[in-house]
Amino acid sequence: MISKDTKLILDISDLHASVEDQPILQGVNLRVHSGEIHALMGRNGCGKSTLAKILAGHPSYKVTSGQVLFCGQDLLAMEPEERARLGVFLGFQYPIEIPGVSNLEFLRVATNARRQCRGEEELDLFDFEDFVIDRLKIVQMDPAFLERSVNEGFSGGEKKRNEILQMALLEPIVSILDETDSGLDIDALRVVASGVKQLANPDNATLLITHYQRLLNEITPHFVHVMAAGRILRTGGPELALKLEQAGYDWLDDPSLDQEGE
Ligand code: ADP
Ligand code: MG
Repeated sequence: MISKDTKLILDISDLHASVEDQPILQGVNLRVHSGEIHALMGRNGCGKSTLAKILAGHPSYKVTSGQVLFCGQDLLAMEPEERARLGVFLGFQYPIEIPGVSNLEFLRVATNARRQCRGEEELDLFDFEDFVIDRLKIVQMDPAFLERSVNEGFSGGEKKRNEILQMALLEPIVSILDETDSGLDIDALRVVASGVKQLANPDNATLLITHYQRLLNEITPHFVHVMAAGRILRTGGPELALKLEQAGYDWLDDPSLDQEGE
């Protein structure tokens, strides 16, 4: 349930952006409040990952106009590291492998940077191990994955669990999960979805980027947005995702589409 004193966490207005001088986002408007789970859908190539990367501060993507406020602050003026420390989390569509960097140490450094920003004590190796062992349960992950290099040789499902583990440790204010469901078998999908649900609370917000209804069968979003050609074309409730599942994205191009439920 959404509490009465919700906070505006993400306020995106008229965002335009390009990559390699190619305009991709063409006026995105989106408001996300605390306690909300939003799903962002749309055909391949419509700009979903571009939006996610811009929010995280990826240097290849140029914002040409518009504004993004994160808890009232100008997000686009911040360095990517500052965004992460303040509680913006991006779960990647294709998590990268970092050979030679221990997963445990990577997670500890990231967690401590976030804790420091919140005025909390840094965790030493022993305290961090207790914390991480507790959080591993959320994603049903074997502690052996902590001893390996970050994502190196992890299966698709293991990489996605590791992303959700990061989220569980960092306790972000907004989590943007880009196609977290892609490449997962049904068991891994359930584990990942259950992790996301356990981590959603009245003080944070989640933006799920997904192609498929199957993730939304596990996590019911409060709002569903459909992107097309770099902007949000339609917004509705969970029924909008079901309609897309039945009718496909071509339904959006049909001018006679039914406007009920808006
Ligand atoms: P989605 O995630 O919705 O499938 P993307 O945001 O990944 O879409 O891509 C939107 C468009 O931007 C696509 O046409 C894609 O080819 C283009 N694009 C994205 N990133 C780059 C890049 N780094 N270089 C060139 N084109 C890019
Ligand atoms: Mg994408």
